Amino acid sequence: MRHLLWIDGKWSTGQGGAVTALENPATGEALAEITEASRADVDRAVEAAHAAFYDGRWSRLPPAARSKALWRLADLLEAKAEAFARIESEDTGKPYKYVSLGGDLPFAVDNLRFFASAARDTHGSGAGEYASGYTSIFQREPVGVVGQIAPWNYPLMMAVWKIGPALAAGCTVVLKPAPTTPRTSLMLAELCAEAGIPPGVFNVITGGNDTGQALVEHGKVRMVSLTGSTGTGKKVMKTAADGLKRLHLELGGKAPFIIFDDADPALVATKAAVAATMNSGQDCTAATRVYVSKKQAPRVTEALVEAMRAVKVGQPFDDGVEMGPLISKAQQQRVAGFIERAKAAGAKVLTGGAVPKSLASKGAWFEPTVISEAAQSSEIVQSEVFGPVVTVSGFDGDAEALKLGNDVPYGLAASLWTNDVGRAMRLSKQLEFGTVWVNDHLPLTSETPHGGFKQSGFGKDLSAEAVGDYQITKHVMIRHS
Ligand code: NAD
Repeated sequence: MRHLLWIDGKWSTGQGGAVTALENPATGEALAEITEASRADVDRAVEAAHAAFYDGRWSRLPPAARSKALWRLADLLEAKAEAFARIESEDTGKPYKYVSLGGDLPFAVDNLRFFASAARDTHGSGAGEYASGYTSIFQREPVGVVGQIAPWNYPLMMAVWKIGPALAAGCTVVLKPAPTTPRTSLMLAELCAEAGIPPGVFNVITGGNDTGQALVEHGKVRMVSLTGSTGTGKKVMKTAADGLKRLHLELGGKAPFIIFDDADPALVATKAAVAATMNSGQDCTAATRVYVSKKQAPRVTEALVEAMRAVKVGQPFDDGVEMGPLISKAQQQRVAGFIERAKAAGAKVLTGGAVPKSLASKGAWFEPTVISEAAQSSEIVQSEVFGPVVTVSGFDGDAEALKLGNDVPYGLAASLWTNDVGRAMRLSKQLEFGTVWVNDHLPLTSETPHGGFKQSGFGKDLSAEAVGDYQITKHVMIRHS
């Protein structure tokens, strides 16, 4: 089946004629054909969003009307959760029950309900008199047309995290999903129409990096919101500079998982294995660097190896499966390359490090992997692998734990494992990460802001703060006479 573009509330054939084939990462089988949006298609989508923004069919609706449509969208998505989860698992290889239906779908529905509520609280601050004879009013207005660009690791959820706050604020959107995983975003577009979101308010253009580039370059796009790698974030920032566009960048991560003496080795090992292999480790907040106090290191390392070996790897639609394949053969080779270079640099593979033999012939599989004896400055510790791979190393005391934890270019998420409240408070304050968990790793809620420090980007997804990112303050100053 060939999928079209969603522009101005209807399906639209691409004008360039190019298509790409989607492949099931678990089986290697062809899934569908996707339209590569050309520059002319990008232009049509942006023009539709521009017209929808300026005639006020969405941006000037009372907040309650926008809220009602987003609530309807959440209800429709909930009713169709199984269909969405099925396609999501086919496109990404995520375990259907454990991740797609059990995690991504309910969270996406909850996110939409949260943003439906947030849409009703988008006001500016009250009036004040700051110069005699004048009253000032601060109004919060939607930024305008937003170009939103998503990655492949949580395709539907990332689309929802993006459109939820943008639509709540009154912006109109052109979304470009990742080239390998666009189908649930296209399904979401059709659902938006069913929910009563007017034509042109939400458009989806599919295609690769050139399509994304054309969207960022477009003169009528006021703001660009990207979730992707730090490298792409830098490119987008340079392109957006020409039009001085607002940016919202949710980029890569390299989360430390810091275990102190008082943590229970078996418990932390199990938690680390989940945090390292959830979504095949293709998670920007995945646990990637386990640091453990030297006293506990032998016991925790042994338990971690055992827990990683126990992760059930298999076909996404089989019962009990906890980890599916990587997104593509290219990603499989990329992860394998990191392991080979780590070994060449002197690191040891304690478990995994290869394609599982039972699944080797088809699909993009990789074993849960634990690496030890990697130098802090080495590539495997410093760079985002985006696969089910953790390094484990020891530390002596709080100061060294903090130093090692912070010593990467990224700053998205970190976790501390200790029962000492004072230590948790002191260290969480000094860790330069957008999220610091204490005695857990991974949970997020719709109310809690998610976003990076340092080269993990800026701007927040989730939470009321995200809605604020899609608004701009206008000062209206009224002279009394
Ligand atoms: P990617 O950077 O390769 O691509 C992301 C999106 O950007 C895709 O849609 C791609 O087509 C588009 N793109 C690429 N080059 C572009 C350009 N020059 N101009 C405009 N668009 C362009 O990332 P990916 O491999 O799809 O996803 C994995 C990355 O996403 C990881 O680095 C991960 O950490 C990050 N991520 C971050 C978060 C977060 O919340 N911070 C969440 C999920 C994923």
